[in-house]
Amino acid sequence: MAAYKFIDHTYDVVVVGAGGSGLRATLGMAEQGLKTACITKVFPTRSHTVAAQGGIAASLSNMGPDNWQWHMYDTVKGSDWLGDTDAMEYLARSAPAAVYELEHYGVPFSRTEEGKIYQRPFGGHTTEFGEGPPVQRTCAAADRTGHAILHTLYGQSLKHNAMFYIEYFAIDLIMSEDGACQGVVAWKLDDGTMHRFNAKMVVLATGGYGRAYFSATSAHTCTGDGGGMVARQGLPLQDMEFVQFHPTGIYGSGCLITEGARGEGGYLTNAEGERFMERYAPTYKDLASRDVVSRCMTIEIREGRGVGPEKDHIFLHLNHLPPEALHERLPGISESAKIFAGVDVTKEPIPVLPTVHYNMGGIPTNYWGEVLNPTAENPDAIFPGLMAVGEAGCASVHGANRLGSNSLIDLVVFGRAAAIKAGEVVDPDAPNPPLNETSVEKAMDRFDALRHADGQTPTAALRLKMQKTMQNNAAVFRTEEVLQEGCVLMSQVAGEMKDLKVTDRSLIWNSDLMETLELTNLMPNALATIVGAEARHESRGAHAREDYPNRDDENWRHHTLAVVGDDNSVTLTYRPVHLDPLTTHDEGGIDLKKIAPKARVY
Ligand SMILES: Cc1cc2nc3c(=O)[nH]c(=O)nc-3n(C[C@H](O)[C@H](O)[C@H](O)COP(=O)(O)OP(=O)(O)OC[C@H]3O[C@@H](n4cnc5c(N)ncnc54)[C@H](O)[C@@H]3O)c2cc1C
Repeated sequence: MAAYKFIDHTYDVVVVGAGGSGLRATLGMAEQGLKTACITKVFPTRSHTVAAQGGIAASLSNMGPDNWQWHMYDTVKGSDWLGDTDAMEYLARSAPAAVYELEHYGVPFSRTEEGKIYQRPFGGHTTEFGEGPPVQRTCAAADRTGHAILHTLYGQSLKHNAMFYIEYFAIDLIMSEDGACQGVVAWKLDDGTMHRFNAKMVVLATGGYGRAYFSATSAHTCTGDGGGMVARQGLPLQDMEFVQFHPTGIYGSGCLITEGARGEGGYLTNAEGERFMERYAPTYKDLASRDVVSRCMTIEIREGRGVGPEKDHIFLHLNHLPPEALHERLPGISESAKIFAGVDVTKEPIPVLPTVHYNMGGIPTNYWGEVLNPTAENPDAIFPGLMAVGEAGCASVHGANRLGSNSLIDLVVFGRAAAIKAGEVVDPDAPNPPLNETSVEKAMDRFDALRHADGQTPTAALRLKMQKTMQNNAAVFRTEEVLQEGCVLMSQVAGEMKDLKVTDRSLIWNSDLMETLELTNLMPNALATIVGAEARHESRGAHAREDYPNRDDENWRHHTLAVVGDDNSVTLTYRPVHLDPLTTHDEGGIDLKKIAPKARVY
């Protein structure tokens, strides 16, 4: 075995990731007196959550009538009836309390005249079970909501004495002989030391894998490390074919312009200056759900009505809005438009294009964040010692398509739920069993082999190949031909990992090696995405098949489970969607007739 010395740590709970979900989980665990560590590869407040702009959804009713049942209905419809009903009820019901909790922790929300939390309209959020006008449900701190939340949660976690291991890269999970998670192996990036964390519960809060694609709004650190670690243990990933394209990434850079821009009155036009969304979504127009708007933009471009010399993008107009409103409500995106598109938003439209933004799929969990290892007999079987929250997880509240502002609320609601569950199942007085040496050795052998990889292909070159393949072959619109070709190409790309070349062999600030580890995590996420997409013969939410244009509830209303083998093969099975809510209508729950599947029009 590769000879590495370890520094050992023992905890009740180890959270991997310090984004919104990781910090909310860490805080909740520490608050209950569990000995808690949070490991993160970047400084906590540099996690991708910091970039969230538009806001966080909760039916506070500060700007007009609203209630959790309407929020739940919109989430069910947004998910295109693939979300788990119990989890979606838990989310919508818990949302208002979770936002007030953030307010009390100190999040500096924007305010109404009366001093209440300001809320803006967002795509797909409506009143009266989709029959009424758009609702103002998205609570905002200007257009820097994620920034405000992340900084506040970090401060609160420190207050509760959680231990932070900053700029530590988690390499792999440690599994006991009888198949439970026991901890993680991590590499301290700045001094090259190796660390073993022994924990009674490991929580993966590692974020999404947007960087499997060429053009993404997400940070370069969004490399699906949690999904990679889980896949290497032979555990499944769920619903990976559902990748959200945000309608308004800045043309060229992919930098995000929040949906809040359309919430505040912005609109899209084509080369003819037409507000084309009025044609496709007569009721909600530019505030239809994201997948819908992205597809309409793509159709306009394909039919020759794109703007610019290449007719390959669309304009987003804010220039009709009062400059004071832009300054107060959207200062961050005004700045981004200037830097990344050279546009003064008070005078000119912003050039935009649908850009990869969010992963609905991830590590399957129940609504307590417990990781599932479904079997034929029990599709809800729990894998002991392991939880997943945030974008890394799949509870599943977003189903086939996430509504804007429903992720930030997912982070705090399920981060908190995971802490509550851990409080029940983790015994702080029990001793930590010794670590399984074989599992540690396996992780270190993999690490060492990558460190000394001496093939012909630089990591950056192979990563680019993967990103271009995913961008071309698993895009907004999909067909059998393009997906099949994509599966073949991706299997070749994954095969080339055997030929990787790492030039730097040191252990201190070795970004070459870190990016190589990240590539080995992106790869299983990408493979599961494209193989799952090829197999799903229907269109649902973000998965739009030109050859199967309709949703097929009879055959396809179930979750995809993808197990990625060591040989990069992908094996698919399926598990049923949870149709039962937490509470019946008589108990004050939602009327099931209201959320019965129907055509999804906006
Ligand atoms: C530009 C942008 C704007 C958005 N705006 C909104 C919005 O307005 N409203 C909304 O609801 N949603 C929004 N979203 C989506 C939402 O922000 C994300 O889904 C969410 O922030 C993800 O949070 P997270 O806690 O899951 O992970 P992240 O915030 O991505 O954090 C991941 C954490 O895991 C750590 N990590 C990862 N791998 C490892 C490893 N191997 N070892 C150690 N640590 C590791 C990282 O260091 C980091 O701390 C936006 C997303 C983007 C990209």
